[in-house]
Amino acid sequence: MTDVTLETISNLAKKRGFAFQSSEIYGGLRSAYDYGPLGVELLQNVKQEWWRSMVQERGDIVGLDSAILQARQVWEASGHAEVFTDPLVECRNCHNRFRLDKLDDPDQCPSCGKRETFTDPRMFNLMFRTHMGPVDTDENMIYLRPETAQGIFTNFENVRRTNRLKLPFGIAQLGKSFRNEITPGQFVFRTREFEQMEMEYFCAPDESAEWFAYWQEQRFQWYLDLGMTESNLRIRPHDDDELSHYSAGTVDVEYDFPWGWDELEGIANRTDFDLKQHSEHSGKDLRYFDQEANERFFPHVIEPAAGATRTTFAFLIDGYTEEQVNDETRVVMKLHHRLAPYKVAVLPLSKKAELIEPSEKLAAELRKRWMIEVDVTQAIGRRYRRQDEIGTPYAVTVDFDSLDDHAVTVRDRDTMAQDRVGMDGLVAYLDEKLV
Ligand code: ATP
Repeated sequence: MTDVTLETISNLAKKRGFAFQSSEIYGGLRSAYDYGPLGVELLQNVKQEWWRSMVQERGDIVGLDSAILQARQVWEASGHAEVFTDPLVECRNCHNRFRLDKLDDPDQCPSCGKRETFTDPRMFNLMFRTHMGPVDTDENMIYLRPETAQGIFTNFENVRRTNRLKLPFGIAQLGKSFRNEITPGQFVFRTREFEQMEMEYFCAPDESAEWFAYWQEQRFQWYLDLGMTESNLRIRPHDDDELSHYSAGTVDVEYDFPWGWDELEGIANRTDFDLKQHSEHSGKDLRYFDQEANERFFPHVIEPAAGATRTTFAFLIDGYTEEQVNDETRVVMKLHHRLAPYKVAVLPLSKKAELIEPSEKLAAELRKRWMIEVDVTQAIGRRYRRQDEIGTPYAVTVDFDSLDDHAVTVRDRDTMAQDRVGMDGLVAYLDEKLV
């Protein structure tokens, strides 16, 4: 990777169609983004890789997709209705609002630079509210979920019973969450609508410390396996005064963003807080019955909670590379093959029908396996550069020789090395590379 500014990466993301501001034609809605054709593929791939490692490749974790709209009692039991708040201050001079705990200097406004202009902090609840049904009464008010985790806790018994699960086991879920953030920003890093990837791992209370350590290691490794630069990642334990009300220990997996170290994922030892709370509030016994020991208890929970949209952004930043090639700067998005939006670009050397036809045929064959783009415009060098910039691992060029030798040129994004490969063997060749 190359050090990259927030501006460079957000411009590239907009220019190439990774992400656009929501409602852009109306001037844009701050802090909500639409993922374009490339962004939706990248985001999907990030989520798929998370699901693969958290659910598919394990025998002890199952998936869930719970509703965004949930009973109000869920958020009363979880504590969100009361304590999911941030301290909000307003500058009396420029009227901008900030999160007090995120200010470098709590006495100076970062916007106008004036000192001692802040109002007293007001605790601001981050949950979005709406109404269920046709009448806007207080009774009909419900929240949009601010995290996916609570849907897992409220379904703990449903999932355990229907799947005959024994401790330790996990329930994984990914999906949209909503927070009325006081200071959204840094492109898609902090938005008011975003996607999370969360897993609750239920275990015996005396095993929780062991699983807490295990999940830190597993989750750190996941980023490395997908090619993230190790020196840009670290695990930071929370100080005691940072710990959430339920936590017996929390660490953050942090990434070295263009503005410094910031959170990608939190891994928390939530003890038995959530299941106990939901038992008390719902009146349903959510304890686990251990047949061997003949005892009933509340399992403890380890929670790795990552942001899908934030992680996608970090992969873009990490992949961004500038290289000098023959006095020219080549921008390459060095995304892991599994994350790249398109796996292969098919590039007919000319627009002549005799090359377009076999190119389309080849692309149709490759599309059965991978996301493919066919690009016929501009000189071949420029087309290579465009594919480099969006991270396509392989470019397949169909030229006039292809008509005789039934072979194509395959160019590797990272090394720019070229191989001549027979069309018949192309799928097998790419299959071996795109593991
Ligand atoms: P922060 O301190 O950045 O506000 P948090 O500690 O409140 O985050 P968690 O509640 O632990 O975040 O949520 C788990 C993950 O969800 C975070 O690590 C982050 O990746 C993602 N996330 C949380 N809030 C946002 C947001 N507003 N926009 C995008 N992603 C978010």
